[in-house]
Amino acid sequence: MMRVDYDVIVVGGGHAGCEAAAAAARMGSKVLLISMNMQTIAQMSCNPAMGGVAKGQIVREIDALGGYSGIVSDRTAIQFRMLNRSKGPAMWSPRTQNDRMMFAALWRQMLEETEGVHFWQDAVVELLLADSGTRVEGVRTAMGTHFLARAVVLTTGTFLNGLMHVGEKQQRGGRSGEHASYGISEQLMALGFTTGRMKTGTPPRIDGRSLNYSKMEEQRGDEHPGKFSFTDTRPLERQRSCWITYTNEAVHDLLRTGFDRSPMYNGSIKGLGPRYCPSIEDKINRFAERDRHQIFVEPEGWNTVEMYINGFSTSLPQEVQYAALRKIPGFEQARMFRPGYAIEYDYFPPTQLRPSLETKNVEGLFFAGQINGTTGYEEAACQGLLAGANANLAINDRQSLVLSRSEAYIGVLIDDLINKGTDEPYRMFTSRAEHRILLRQDNADIRLSEIAFRNGLIGEDRHTRVEQKVRNVESITKFLRQKTAEPKEVNPVLIDHEEAPINQKVKWGSILLRPGIGIRELSAASGHLSSFLVDFPEEDAEQAEIQWKYRSYIEREEEQARRMSNLDHIYLKPDFNFQTIRALSHEGREKLSAMRPESLGQASRLSGVSPADISILMVYLNKGAEWKH
Ligand SMILES: Cc1cc2nc3c(=O)[nH]c(=O)nc-3n(C[C@H](O)[C@H](O)[C@H](O)COP(=O)(O)OP(=O)(O)OC[C@H]3O[C@@H](n4cnc5c(N)ncnc54)[C@H](O)[C@@H]3O)c2cc1C
Repeated sequence: MMRVDYDVIVVGGGHAGCEAAAAAARMGSKVLLISMNMQTIAQMSCNPAMGGVAKGQIVREIDALGGYSGIVSDRTAIQFRMLNRSKGPAMWSPRTQNDRMMFAALWRQMLEETEGVHFWQDAVVELLLADSGTRVEGVRTAMGTHFLARAVVLTTGTFLNGLMHVGEKQQRGGRSGEHASYGISEQLMALGFTTGRMKTGTPPRIDGRSLNYSKMEEQRGDEHPGKFSFTDTRPLERQRSCWITYTNEAVHDLLRTGFDRSPMYNGSIKGLGPRYCPSIEDKINRFAERDRHQIFVEPEGWNTVEMYINGFSTSLPQEVQYAALRKIPGFEQARMFRPGYAIEYDYFPPTQLRPSLETKNVEGLFFAGQINGTTGYEEAACQGLLAGANANLAINDRQSLVLSRSEAYIGVLIDDLINKGTDEPYRMFTSRAEHRILLRQDNADIRLSEIAFRNGLIGEDRHTRVEQKVRNVESITKFLRQKTAEPKEVNPVLIDHEEAPINQKVKWGSILLRPGIGIRELSAASGHLSSFLVDFPEEDAEQAEIQWKYRSYIEREEEQARRMSNLDHIYLKPDFNFQTIRALSHEGREKLSAMRPESLGQASRLSGVSPADISILMVYLNKGAEWKH
């Protein structure tokens, strides 16, 4: 029994665990990352892709906070697309297709290069506790080794009591080919934690050499690919295409023949699956009126023939999967690498957490990732980053890092989880954020660098660069506001866009407010503008353009966010006794007592707590003046 001391132990080397270890170490902690299998660190269990709608914004935020997910994604990407380009900038969402093996290898390399991160391959089976089980002081592994630490971050993903299903076949495991994890759930339940079961699934993988791409539509990457990271990663110079095809009635009929042996329908699977990422059997059941569903055929990497069949997640019997696949155009000769499967696992309702992701019951114990009922790499990674950072801050007696709903999607995600909980796998959508015009992918660095720097998550060089960017944007905005354009400079662009030409000098800013007119195009047409912009990075000019074009919406949203955030700064003592305030509604009193919110803002977002309850609390706290500001 070896007893080695660390500041922070991170249990699990998935997306949450990797970001947690990296964040705590960057902030100066001595970290031990314990994972069951060192070969599967940062494994992409499902889709070899990062980002997408709302998730891409999260990756940009992780990057702005110094996390590694964006850098790893950029450096291992095989395709880049900015989704929703035709919509407003609040909806633009970067997405990469990645080389699965390179992604995991680079993550491991970056962790190995991070000072302060140590590794141990083993399964954690028990938490070591002190003070009658109210404080964590380390972990015990399956091999009987004890490691001590002042904080432990649990990021066990889909592994706790994991049970995989393919048709009627069941197998214990945390992911295909890997053992499940036992002991931790049972110990936590004995400590009074509540737990639940969730389910997720993955599609079959196909040998790309057996597909007929002439029957599919090609989906190329962007002509001018962007990237996730605000660091000096480079956009892709070559890309691999994905392919689109569709299911049909013959596919659906074949799939239906397996329904009586489907673990989804014969009662074997008890856990709730992700509603927004349904299996193919779910889709043909729920949307019975649709005669086809889209299938994306996505390469798993640069140098592999393996293809990920996005949209065909299933846990039907293997032979049913096979037969149905072969009815899809282009798949007539398809050979399978492995079948799709579903997995059920334990999660812990996240209402048991503080805003820092520390558990309310056990001091020093943090949860992050799929264990909190979320789904997705990005959702897991951002929680890991915050939990790792907060573990470091907690052991150094520093104030927790909590992002507000108007500062980051990460703030929305954590706030939703801890206040509303979730009974189905939670994934991020832009619609979950009330201030999405502020939470754009393009300004994540401007929003978060100061916070990251203050907390030791990024160094001075990155912070200085962002400060310079902000100054550049101000200079460009000043130019737009003050300088005028000549008709001959801008009329060709305006006419091109079927906009009325100008017949006298007009401020550049007012030209730019016209729909469809972009700064890049204007600059290409005008020597005057291009010679001014030549001193600024293209990205800064684009930022100035977005801020200028959307400034009235942005200002309105900022004002609203300011008003709402006032409540977040009225703190409630941990031992505040809501039961003594008889004027509160019965439900409000019960909810507040059970959830123990840390601020009036958090209290106001709990379901069952009414605006009237909040007014009563405000009177009680005698904080009316603060609220009115
Ligand atoms: C079959 C399947 C299908 C999925 N489908 C989708 C999908 O369609 N869409 C989607 O967004 N997401 C999907 N996911 C989820 C996605 O993989 C996760 O959201 C994401 O990987 C969660 O990251 P995590 O860090 O929380 O956990 P994981 O990536 O699961 O990592 C957990 C890590 O913890 C380690 N570990 C577990 N227990 C212990 C222990 N006791 N001791 C030591 N180490 C331990 C494991 O070895 C692993 O490294 C799927 C996952 C699976 C398995």
